[in-house]
Amino acid sequence: MKNIIIFGAPGSGKGTYSEEIKTKYGMGHISTGDVLRAEIHNGTELGLIAKDYIDNGQLIPDSLMIDILAKTYDSLTATNGVIFDGFPRTIAQAEALKEMLKERGHEMGMMIELIVDEETLLSRLLNRAKEQGRADDNEETIKKRFAVYHSQTEPLSDWFEKEGIRNTFTWKGSKDLMLSEIFEEIEKQNP
Ligand code: ATP
Ligand code: MG
Repeated sequence: MKNIIIFGAPGSGKGTYSEEIKTKYGMGHISTGDVLRAEIHNGTELGLIAKDYIDNGQLIPDSLMIDILAKTYDSLTATNGVIFDGFPRTIAQAEALKEMLKERGHEMGMMIELIVDEETLLSRLLNRAKEQGRADDNEETIKKRFAVYHSQTEPLSDWFEKEGIRNTFTWKGSKDLMLSEIFEEIEKQNP
C-alpha cells in the first residue's frame, strides 16, 4: 500500500478515518497528537514542553516535531504502508517528511484532505470534550486551533496539489458515504 497522509482541520475526522483505513488495509498509523498526549501522560521532558503549546492551541515547533516524527516512523514495524495523521501541519514539516522518506527510499504516497464546514467541526469538538475530556477541546482553545489551522496548515493543501498527490473529500453529512469514497480512491491508487 502507498503511504497515506490524512489532512484536515481539528475535528475533521483524521483519527476516525485513520482507524478505519488502518483496520481495512492493515497499515501502520502515526498520530502525532496521540504521540504527544502519551508523552504528557507519562510526564516526560518532551511532554512538559508539548503541554504548553497544546493547551494554548499552538503548534509544537517544527524542529522538535520533525525529530519526533522520524523517530516514530523508524520504530514502526508495519510493512504495508503508514498513515500519517496530524503530520505535516506546516510547509517546513511537509518538506522534511518528503526528504525523510526519500532518504529511506520511500514516498509520501497519497494525501487525503477532509473538508468539513466550521459549524460541524465546532459541534464535534464540543461533543468530544464531553466524551473524552481533552484539555484542548474547550471553545476558547478550539477557536485558536481553527485560526492556527487557517494560517499555518491550510496553505499546505496547495503544496500537496503541486506534488500531484492531493485527493479532496467533502463532508456531505454521512460518515459511511465519506468512507466509501475514500476507500474507492485508495483502491484505485493501489491496483
Ligand atoms: P483532531 O484530532 O480532531 O483532528 P487536532 O488536529 O486539533 O484535532 P491532534 O492532531 O490530536 O488534534 O493535535 C493536537 C495538538 O497537538 C495540536 O493542536 C498541536 O498543538 C499538537 N500537534 C499535533 N501534531 C502536530 C504537528 N504535526 N505539528 C505541531 N503540533 C502538533
Ligand atoms: Mg486526531
